[in-house]
Amino acid sequence: MIPCARPLLGKEEESRVIEVLRSGMLAAGSYVHEFEEQFKQYHNSRYAVATSSGTTALHAILRAMGIGAGDKVITTPYSFIATANAILYTKATPVFVDIDPVTYTISPSQLSIAVKEHPEAKAVIIVHLFGLPADMGAILEIAKQNELIVLEDCAQAHGATYQEQKVGTFGKAAAFSFYPSKNMTSGEGGMVLTDDPVIEEKVRILINQGQSRRYYHEMVGYNYRMTNIHAAIGVEQLKKLDIYNQKRRENAKFYDENIANPWIKKPVLPSDRSHVYHQYTLKVKNREAFTASLEANGIGYGIYYPTIIPKQPAYKNLACSSGIWPVAEELANTCVSIPVHPALFRNDLTTIVEVINNYR
Ligand SMILES: *Cc1c(COP(=O)(O)O)cnc(C)c1O
Repeated sequence: MIPCARPLLGKEEESRVIEVLRSGMLAAGSYVHEFEEQFKQYHNSRYAVATSSGTTALHAILRAMGIGAGDKVITTPYSFIATANAILYTKATPVFVDIDPVTYTISPSQLSIAVKEHPEAKAVIIVHLFGLPADMGAILEIAKQNELIVLEDCAQAHGATYQEQKVGTFGKAAAFSFYPSKNMTSGEGGMVLTDDPVIEEKVRILINQGQSRRYYHEMVGYNYRMTNIHAAIGVEQLKKLDIYNQKRRENAKFYDENIANPWIKKPVLPSDRSHVYHQYTLKVKNREAFTASLEANGIGYGIYYPTIIPKQPAYKNLACSSGIWPVAEELANTCVSIPVHPALFRNDLTTIVEVINNYR
């Protein structure tokens, strides 16, 4: 079986974790600080705050921005559910804007329409889906004209660039995830990236029980801290991120050049961006037959995502779930992601191409 995702962990991560265990500093510790330092340097950003997950990073950002009951936050219906859940945690209302049919990220033209309909919307959470940066030029222009705060969900796009600039550096703040299936991992974990000292300070307080000095709790916060064990893994993974992403790009290039089947549409890469292929996602006709042929040949796959967020049962009774998102719906019905991770071998790739090209 060729797995659809597999983290690559080596001796480096192992020895760092053992070092942490022997030190006894399991919770806060020097690796948390080091991970933050390395992560912000990698992005040339002013501040980075490590968190317990990508979800908690998103939630802490929204709360630090003062988003709460009565506010509207625009985002995509086509993402992992955590993006929209973070908005609901604050009691704000998500406004879902359909995706672009080529890039699968939020559609700038639909965003323009939405900001006219919801002029009171405070912020937009951009998701760089599957590792492809969204159309940041157009999005930033719309945001500027409408005084909309731009936040980035970079959980699937560590190291990806739009016009040579890394994602996570375009908006007011960005959230990253280090879940094991992502482009780099810390086990569980997340990071907030920002250039704004006020956001950084608030996030730091919020993720540590609202504590601004010892046992003085200035707001109702959370325990959203990263542990030293997770940070030790993250520090070593960050060193390998560019190599991993390069391997993902090479695997994707092999698919780009060799998959040829009229029933299958491959991902598109606009020339002003670099993709980090968190997923290599196809659109296929007759998906059940296609996935059956993958299964029969021992090829793992993923369906990201079979149900758009506003149509999830958990969203059924919420006002934000009424509406139509035809582009997102169509993708949800036809998408299949095939293995593209850096642990694949050349013969895995040739097997996958052969099976896909023979599919009718
Ligand atoms: C993985 C993911 C998250 C959540 O990250 P966790 O670390 O699992 O909490 C949020 N948004 C997107 C787009 C993701 O892919």
